[in-house]
Order: sequence, then structure tokens, then C-alpha cells
Amino acid sequence: MIKENVGRVLKELPDNIMLVAATKARPVFAIEEAINAGIKIIGENYVQEAEEKFKVIGNKVKWHLIGNLQKNKAKRAVRLFDMLQTLDTMELASILDRECKKIGKIMPVLIEVNSGREPQKRGVLPEKVESLVKEIIKFENLRLMGLMTMGPLVSKPDEIRQFLKKTKEIFDRIKNSGTGGSDWSYLSMGMSDTYKIAIEEGANIVRIGTAIFGKRESLPTTAREH
Ligand SMILES: *Cc1c(COP(=O)(O)O)cnc(C)c1O
Repeated sequence: MIKENVGRVLKELPDNIMLVAATKARPVFAIEEAINAGIKIIGENYVQEAEEKFKVIGNKVKWHLIGNLQKNKAKRAVRLFDMLQTLDTMELASILDRECKKIGKIMPVLIEVNSGREPQKRGVLPEKVESLVKEIIKFENLRLMGLMTMGPLVSKPDEIRQFLKKTKEIFDRIKNSGTGGSDWSYLSMGMSDTYKIAIEEGANIVRIGTAIFGKRESLPTTAREH
């Protein structure tokens, strides 16, 4: 099933779209099956869970952090991940930069935008993105490459479109002004039920879990580390 799902998703995606398999709460054997079917990048939400899976799966795929990062996990995160998609504060950027310096790593990062302006969600409010870009681009050991957004939970997939459009506008403004620098190129948005809309709206990274692995409700949710 996973094999067929990966095949179908890969076939549907245009060549220039990067597929990140969202693997939170998925067991290693399922992830291995997805990798055998052609998955090259996996997205994990929690550092601890990623570390455990990394022990088995290792470097045969790239690892992206797609969940919130706590400051006290920054040191471990920079050792494991190949990209951090959820940077949203100067303080975290500064800690990450310092931890990267210690190990001589330059970490690709995306800034997460709270495009739905949801008070309980992390991510930067739309009007604050540009000023954070100007600060983060100064860090020598972070390579700022673009934006990521989740958008709010909506009842119909098409209701997400306005939030993705808004994020694309911000992305383009920063690109066209040159503020984002020469590596500014990635826009990560769209999940299982919204990735086609996200691609129409300009995404070039999509993060897909359910459409590859099936519904998450049926799995134990022991993944949370706090
Ligand atoms: C779980 C998750 C996804 C994938 O969601 P699905 O609906 O299962 O495709 C994408 N992005 C983030 C940040 C996630 O936590």
C-alpha cells in the first residue's frame, strides 16, 4: 500500500517539486517501505523521535524538522537534521547559529509563517516576516532558504488557498527585493489534502503524511516527547 501511494504521489508531482514524507508517529518499517519506493526526504516533528529513527535509518535519506523546535533541543537538532523548516524567532536562530558553529555546520533553514494568524500556533505573523529575514540572514552558520507554512485547519481543502496565496506573496516580495539573499528559493506548503492547491499557489516543497502512510488515528501516538 505504502509503495503504491508513494508511486502515485511521485507520479503526480511536477519534477521541480520536492516531496517530504511526513513521518511523525510512523514506525520505522513503514518509513523504510516508503524509502524503498522512492522517498528521499523525511520530515519529523520531534527531535527525540527523529533520533530514534535515525539510529536505524541513518543517512540514506535527508532529514527535515517540520515541527516546533524547543530551545533546549537545538543542540541535538543541528546534529541530526539537514534542514530546519520551522524557525520563527531571533532567539532560536541565535542559539542554532551558535550550535552550528561548534560543529562547523551550515544549516539550511526556512522561516515558518503563521499565515492563519492563529494565537495558539507558532510561526511568524505575516507582517513580521521581512524584518526577521533581515536579521536571520546575518547569521553565518544558517543558510536562509525560504518560507514554510501550515495554514489553519479548514473544513474544505480549498479554504486553505487564501493563506497559501498570502504566504506566496510574502515569499515573492522578499525574493524580488533581494532581502532574502541568493539562497532564497523554497516555499514549503501543502499536506495530503491540500498539496495540489499548494502547488497551484507556488509551493515547491510539499509535506505529505496521510496520503502515503494512511490515517494516523489508527496508530499509537506515543511520539510526543513532552
Ligand atoms: C503531519 C504534518 C504534515 C503532513 O500532514 P498529512 O495531513 O498527514 O499529510 C505536514 N506538515 C507538518 C508540519 C505536519 O506536522
